[in-house]
Amino acid sequence: MKLQGKVAVITGASMGIGEAIAKLFLEEGAKLVLCARDLARMQAAVPRIGGGDDNTLCVSCDVSKRDQVDAMMQAAMKKFGRVDILVNNAGFGLNDSIEKMKVAEFKQMFDTNLFGAVECMQAAIPLMRQQGGGDIVNVSSVSGHISSPYMGGYAATKHAMNAIGMAARVELLRHNINVVTVCPGYISTDFSKNMIKGSQPQRVGGAVRYSVGPDVVARDTLKAVLKRKRQALTPWFYWIFVKLYQNAPGLIERQLSKSLKPTSQVIAEGAKKSN
Ligand code: NAP
Repeated sequence: MKLQGKVAVITGASMGIGEAIAKLFLEEGAKLVLCARDLARMQAAVPRIGGGDDNTLCVSCDVSKRDQVDAMMQAAMKKFGRVDILVNNAGFGLNDSIEKMKVAEFKQMFDTNLFGAVECMQAAIPLMRQQGGGDIVNVSSVSGHISSPYMGGYAATKHAMNAIGMAARVELLRHNINVVTVCPGYISTDFSKNMIKGSQPQRVGGAVRYSVGPDVVARDTLKAVLKRKRQALTPWFYWIFVKLYQNAPGLIERQLSKSLKPTSQVIAEGAKKSN
């Protein structure tokens, strides 16, 4: 058991990638503090991941509210006495053009995806420093490297998250705290269903063919934590797209533009692939 004796706080753990990370961390012996805004949905995930009262604590927490983040960390300390790992996974998307997207919704997404993650880091870092170290996982995205059309606002939150993670890593390594930025590609979860959609939402259709399950992200996240990596692109082959985009952006831009389809069609294709 690779995480025996460790306590992990995982945000957005009631479904999708957060739930998969929670399941794997539990299997590896960690004790878990799990949060989402909807407490009933969070609690419903506990039997699915094989948890119980002794090794999991569910908390209702909106990461964009600092008082709720502080209360979550206090609850973690009260139940388990330490916080070794923080997984900043809570997040959502906004599927609209730059021209039409509502700035209020764009700001709301920044409040969760970026500022929420920073608030969680600020609440956890003093605890980790007192304990002599820890690990922070920021679940970003391939969108933190490549901005897809109609997902520009979302990509902005993830580019910013990458920047925060890279700087924090250098600041915190001297305190034995590693910050790893995990960048998943297209993962089969309810992310696309749950995201805010604009008036004529479109998405890059071709990406569905490369989709994998959230368990792949969980395994790569665990590996990255154990090896104290700087970054993990998951699944690994997304490195090819990122390198291509860095070296021949026009090629990728043409492909992105050609592959645009109505979002409803892309969601249906994704559902078909995961069945
Ligand atoms: P998901 O299935 O929609 O799950 C999102 C989770 O976040 C839910 O548990 C949700 O629960 C929680 N959440 C949302 N807003 C929150 C808030 N303000 N405070 C606390 N919890 C909140 O999405 P997912 O696919 O698992 O995505 C997880 C992370 O991976 C996100 O950061 C996403 O950007 C990233 N990602 C996903 C993909 C993909 O293709 N799926 C690819 C790259 C990156 P409540 O609604 O109850 O709060």
